[in-house]
Amino acid sequence: MIPLLDLKRQYASIEPELEAAALAVLQSGEYVLGRRVAHFEEEFAAYCGVKEAVALNTGTSALHLALLAAGVGPGDEVITVPMTFVATVAAIRYTGAKAVFVDVDPATWTMDPGKLRAAVTSRTRVVLPVHLHGRLADMASINAIARRHRLTVIEDAAQAHGAERHGRRAGAFGQSGCFSFYPGKNLGACGEGGALVTDDAGVARTARLLRDWGQDGKYNHVCHGFNYRMDALQAALLSVKLKQLPAWTDGRRRVAARYDRALKGSAVARPTACDGLDHAWHVYAVQTDRRDHVQAELAQAGVATGIHYPRPVHLQPAYADLGYGQGDFPVSEALADRLLSLPIYPELTDAQIDGIASSLQRICGAFHAEPLV
Ligand SMILES: *Cc1c(COP(=O)(O)O)cnc(C)c1O
Repeated sequence: MIPLLDLKRQYASIEPELEAAALAVLQSGEYVLGRRVAHFEEEFAAYCGVKEAVALNTGTSALHLALLAAGVGPGDEVITVPMTFVATVAAIRYTGAKAVFVDVDPATWTMDPGKLRAAVTSRTRVVLPVHLHGRLADMASINAIARRHRLTVIEDAAQAHGAERHGRRAGAFGQSGCFSFYPGKNLGACGEGGALVTDDAGVARTARLLRDWGQDGKYNHVCHGFNYRMDALQAALLSVKLKQLPAWTDGRRRVAARYDRALKGSAVARPTACDGLDHAWHVYAVQTDRRDHVQAELAQAGVATGIHYPRPVHLQPAYADLGYGQGDFPVSEALADRLLSLPIYPELTDAQIDGIASSLQRICGAFHAEPLV
C-alpha cells in the first residue's frame, strides 16, 4: 500500500539529526520559548524573506493573532473563502468578527479576485486568502483591491511553505502570513506548531505579547493574552527540518510534474498549469465525477488517497448561523464533491508515481470526467 503521507520515511531520512536535537533540548532544562525558539524564528523569517517570525503553538493561533494584531473585533467583517480547512474560519470567529465568503476561481481553486470586490462593505476590515493545496492565491489582484478599499491582507499560508512568485515567498505578500507546522504540513513539527511572519514590527510585538499572556516583562500583563507559545522541542526539530525544506519542496514539484506528464491527454482532470515555483504542492488533487468509485478502486490497487475537503465551510453545521446555503458558492461546492488527493511527498519514487498514474488512468479510462474549466 502506498500511503497518502509517510512521516516515518521522512523521519528515517534525518533520524540522527532529529534525535541529537531532541536530546539536547531534554538535557537543557529550557522547554518553552527561549533560545531555540528564538533561533528558529530567525531562520524561518529568513526563509520567508520577512523581518520577523513569531513562533506559536499552532497555525490556528497564528491566524487568530494576525487578526487581533490587525485590530479585528466584533462588528468587523473578514472576507475569506469557503473552500478551506475550518481553522481559517474558526480564527475569524474567535475574534468576534463575521466571516464573509467569496467563491474560489475554478482554475486555481483560490480566492476569485473578481468576486472579492463585490463582497467589500463598510464593515470589511481584512481579506484573508488561502493558498489552498500550496498554490499561491492571486496576491497581486487581491492586494490591489485591498489597497483601494484600505483593507489589511492576511495570508493563510498553512499549506504553502516556500511557494513563491517573482522571488517573494508565501507569507510575505500580506501584512501577516500564517503558517502551520502540523506534522503533515510541508514543514511539520513532531507535534503541534505554527508561526506568524511579518515585516511590521508593531504586528510582531503585539503577537509576541498575546502569545504569552500579554506579558511585557514577568507578571506585568499589559493586555489580555493567551498561552500560544511554541515549545523548545518543536523549535529544535523544526530547525533541523527547515534545512531540508528547499530539497523537499523541489521533491514535491518533481512528483507533481511527473503526475502531470503521466496524466496528460488522459480522462483524468489534473490541476491547471501554474508557474513552476508558485505552488508548494502540499496536495495534488485530481477531479472526478465518480470520486467514491475511483477512491475505492485506487485503494484496491494499493494507493491511499484523501479528500481536501469534502464539505466547504459554508455548509458545515457549525457555521450555519452565517446564513449561507447550498448553491451560494458553486465552484467550492463542485470541488468539494470532485477533488481527490493523490499521495505527494518527496520520498515517492518515480516508479510509484508512474504506478499511481497508470492505476488512475485505468480506473478513469472507462468514463470521461469533465473538468470544471
Ligand atoms: C492546517 C491548516 C490550518 C491550521 O493549522 P493548525 O496548525 O492545525 O492549527 C489553517 N488553515 C489551513 C488552510 C490549514 O491547512
